[in-house]
Amino acid sequence: MDYLSDLTVQRLAKAEPMMWSNPKLTAAKAALAKLELGVKDVDDAAARLARFAPYIRRRFPETAESGGLIESPLTEIPAMLWRIRHEYAAPVEGRLFIKRDSDLPISGSIKARGGIYEVLKHAETLAKDAGMLDEGDDYAKLCNDEFRSFFSKYSVQVASTGNLGLSIGVMSAALGFKATVHMSADAREWKKRLLRSRGVSVIEYPDDYSAAVINGRKASELDPMSYFVDDENSLDLFLGYSVAAERLKAQLDEEGVEVNAEHPLFVYIPCGVGGGPGGVTFGLKLIYGDDVHVFFVEPVNAPCMALGMATGLNSKICVQDIGLSGKTEADGLAVGRASGFVGNVMEGLLSGEFTVEDGRLYDYMRSLIQSQELFAEPSACAAFEGPVGLYTHKEGLEYMQKHALEGRMKHATHIVWATGGSLVPEHEREKYAATYIK
Ligand SMILES: *Cc1c(COP(=O)(O)O)cnc(C)c1O
Repeated sequence: MDYLSDLTVQRLAKAEPMMWSNPKLTAAKAALAKLELGVKDVDDAAARLARFAPYIRRRFPETAESGGLIESPLTEIPAMLWRIRHEYAAPVEGRLFIKRDSDLPISGSIKARGGIYEVLKHAETLAKDAGMLDEGDDYAKLCNDEFRSFFSKYSVQVASTGNLGLSIGVMSAALGFKATVHMSADAREWKKRLLRSRGVSVIEYPDDYSAAVINGRKASELDPMSYFVDDENSLDLFLGYSVAAERLKAQLDEEGVEVNAEHPLFVYIPCGVGGGPGGVTFGLKLIYGDDVHVFFVEPVNAPCMALGMATGLNSKICVQDIGLSGKTEADGLAVGRASGFVGNVMEGLLSGEFTVEDGRLYDYMRSLIQSQELFAEPSACAAFEGPVGLYTHKEGLEYMQKHALEGRMKHATHIVWATGGSLVPEHEREKYAATYIK
């Protein structure tokens, strides 16, 4: 119980926007050396995605331009930066970009990285074990009926409040698996409809996410031909996300953006259980080391990762333990308990966290539409609290001082990771645009 006397816990418990600086942030080299995961794991995941590219390209023609890689644009947003400076009173220096995972092909959210990767890896393992597939083959052959009928003997199941279900469901069904998504009560109607239209079974539960997880896991365990994607503990999801870092590096190089000690990179990512943002962070630290500063953003009522990391209890504590509801309008971020291993991996790597109020998400969303004509869903817009918070909380200025960054911030590059949006139907976007919360 002594965590209740912790100052950070007391601040989180107030459910007010705050910044938490990670006191355990260490030199990247030392922090990475302590981990069991390394470059070779990310390379292995990247190589697997490359093997699947010919299949993805044939099965999802919208990926033709990228040669079957599921990747999103990086876009500089100077008009949004102007608004952040003038309307949100945050004197952010340097350049501002948006990483548009909102526009990732196939499932329109960051889950198209980890979620799809895990399904592909599972399919590859099954087909290789059955002697049907070799790593040197052209994986486009996975489109053939022979494979579809092979995979149809197996099922893939997942519990989700929405976006993970979309990625796993759509990819599993495309390969020919029987796909089942166990959905919590708060899942949006249009997501269920979309999944059913792709031949995915959607099972609805009247309770929250944890009940869907328990039931989904149980249903999968009862079926020896079933595979359960476990968002709370999955290393495969994590590694699928981590590949984003080298793709981002290529985009920054193409833009002529330098990243080094004199030109620091700041990346802000909305966090739910932590697999997505954690994987991306891990990949970025491997590439950029101490020159990249990564912050997560969580809703004030569901700061599970900040709570787990600040107390060191990781998944052994949940936000309800400190009197928070875990409820938020932000799809994908309504998570009360963080992943079982991501907090540990992040211990020496993550710079810190920001928490944000729901109302702000809609404000950022409207500002982004008005200034840049870009759409990202409200939860994805949590990322904007990063640069704003860094320049408006006193802890942000302290962070810059501590790392002797003040003189270099004018050469900084800030990237907000817009984690979802393109599949949100027009009428839902209109509803979002008309939502105002204190
Ligand atoms: C899932 C999700 C996240 C966070 O990913 P986690 O792996 O749960 O931390 C962020 N934004 C959106 C839109 C998501 O769907």
